[in-house]
Amino acid sequence: MTRLVVASANPHKVEEIAQILEVALGTEFELVARPGDVPDVEESAATLEGNAHLKAVALRTATGIGAIADDSGLEVDVLGGAPGVHSARYAGPDATYADNVAKLLRALDAAGAREPGERAARFRTVALALLADGREIAREGVVEGRITGAARGTGGFGYDPVFEPVGGGGRTFAELEPEAKHAISARGRAFRALASALRAELARPGSVVE
Ligand code: IMP
Repeated sequence: MTRLVVASANPHKVEEIAQILEVALGTEFELVARPGDVPDVEESAATLEGNAHLKAVALRTATGIGAIADDSGLEVDVLGGAPGVHSARYAGPDATYADNVAKLLRALDAAGAREPGERAARFRTVALALLADGREIAREGVVEGRITGAARGTGGFGYDPVFEPVGGGGRTFAELEPEAKHAISARGRAFRALASALRAELARPGSVVE
């Protein structure tokens, strides 16, 4: 049995990661909750993979077992890829999800992007596993979509009420059931790819973990 601590402190993300990996990982893995006494990890890297790495290192160091971490960003074409790696703090260091969404809608208005075709965006997630012996595997997932004119739906979190994914039948992520979101979301794609890479890595002859 390989134990992996989930590095995220965001309860929305932890729930989604657990739901995705419950299906994708199989019974030889056990996910362990992040201990409450581990301080927040400063996401100071310039890339999603860099930030996922920082979080995984902090949790592996704190617990001594392998860690999985992810970092995500929303990239809006007409805003030159913003908010990107700064998605969590787009409207300031203490921004709420609602603050970030409001700033995003204002920015698109200010850019004159009113037609759906001018509001193209994507979520990108890097999912990363850092095993107890130092082996590290990262996989990326992307979902294309567009930013709606106004928030719709009550599910999900973050920018979900204003992100209409390709393949979502015209609904925002916040209007989809969790399983339907995970089937096409960047986090779903990244963690399913990570799960198969992890299983292949651990199935290699001579591979020993814990
Ligand atoms: P993080 O750095 O991976 O925690 O994600 C940065 C920010 O992106 C979060 O604070 C959310 O605002 C947003 N975000 C991440 N994943 C999602 C998602 O699945 N849906 C909507 N927003 C998300």
